[in-house]
Amino acid sequence: GQCAIRCPTAALVVKSEVDAAWEAILDPDKFVVAQIAPAVRVAIGEAFGLPPGEITTGKIVTALKKIGFDRVYDTSFSADLTTIEEAEEFIKRLQKNERLPQFTSCCPSWVLFAERNYPFYLEHLSTARSPQQMFGSVIKNFVAKQEGIAPERTVSVSIMPCTSKKFEARRPEFKNQKYADVDIVLTAQETIQLIRSANIDFNELEPQPFDVPLGAGTGAGVLFGVTGGVTEAVLRYAYERLTGEELKKVEFEQVRGLGAVRVAEVEFGTRKVKVAIVHGLANAQRLIQEIRAGKRYYDFVEVMNCPGGCIGGGGMPLGYPDYPEVLRKRAQGLYHADRLSPVRKPQDSPTIKLLYERWLKEPNSEIAERFLHTRFSSRRRISREIIRIQEAKSAQKV
Ligand code: SF4
Repeated sequence: GQCAIRCPTAALVVKSEVDAAWEAILDPDKFVVAQIAPAVRVAIGEAFGLPPGEITTGKIVTALKKIGFDRVYDTSFSADLTTIEEAEEFIKRLQKNERLPQFTSCCPSWVLFAERNYPFYLEHLSTARSPQQMFGSVIKNFVAKQEGIAPERTVSVSIMPCTSKKFEARRPEFKNQKYADVDIVLTAQETIQLIRSANIDFNELEPQPFDVPLGAGTGAGVLFGVTGGVTEAVLRYAYERLTGEELKKVEFEQVRGLGAVRVAEVEFGTRKVKVAIVHGLANAQRLIQEIRAGKRYYDFVEVMNCPGGCIGGGGMPLGYPDYPEVLRKRAQGLYHADRLSPVRKPQDSPTIKLLYERWLKEPNSEIAERFLHTRFSSRRRISREIIRIQEAKSAQKV
């Protein structure tokens, strides 16, 4: 499909995990927890005849509860955590003037692309884990223990816009000998299949709120589903941290829209910060060439693989016939969800405050580094090796 054309993880064999999800749900010994990514909530309804962009979060929660999930939580909550950890890292780099630009790293297709093509830039990627992985880590390493359930008995299922999140969940960094942080990744399309296979009439469902405490994300967290959203969330946090003043207007219109590359300058007191947002890896490649050639300078660069960001993910309903219009509607849906949120800045979230108080202490602390950060390694040698083997094979054929 659309995914195979542009996604670097598309060459990997992707297995549907609907059966694995059923197996976990039907096992009385397992405690099954779901997290729902921001982008998914404005698209699943499309499969049930609702217009693109309609926010169906409450119905998805009810559907998953009926199916048998023990808890249903919101990935926007861990997007807030990613924002704070990533913004604090950014502030440190700004102060030391090192490893700039800082690149976002929550899109696994972009991370893989960087590991293959830009080994010299890996130090520039934010080490903050993606919202999916932070969520998995919080569930297994904190919540499960708090609730008295062994992490080995907890099955963490994430509902995501793309198949590359499956690849991310399997990275060895996010596992130990006993358990993985995220066990099952269902794309939006697989989730639609799961709902259909349970014979649920989606449109008739009464919406329900997420479970507490990890169901409470802020509006900034929801924005992670659209291109420019991570940047906007980071700006909402970094502005207050660097100026010590309250940010009155939380919308950063300059970073919004669906243009291939958007740039903005934001004043943080005396420091002007330059940001760039790009979606589509071909666009990213061009932008990075210009940065490398010294033609452009940025402090912060957000990269997403898919058109429009995760709202255009390869695991989402295909949204034909007018895909660009569908993307615009989904984007509007997320901006609307942000406006409706009672809390719109990650630093104001009571859940986040609680988590730092009870567990993490402070952003980028030793505990946070251990459970919420990661590292990247060059895959250049491996891909060169593959190319060499392929070339040798085709030479043999000739
Ligand atoms: Fe997945 Fe696309 Fe979002 Fe990247 S931009 S995380 S590939 S949906």
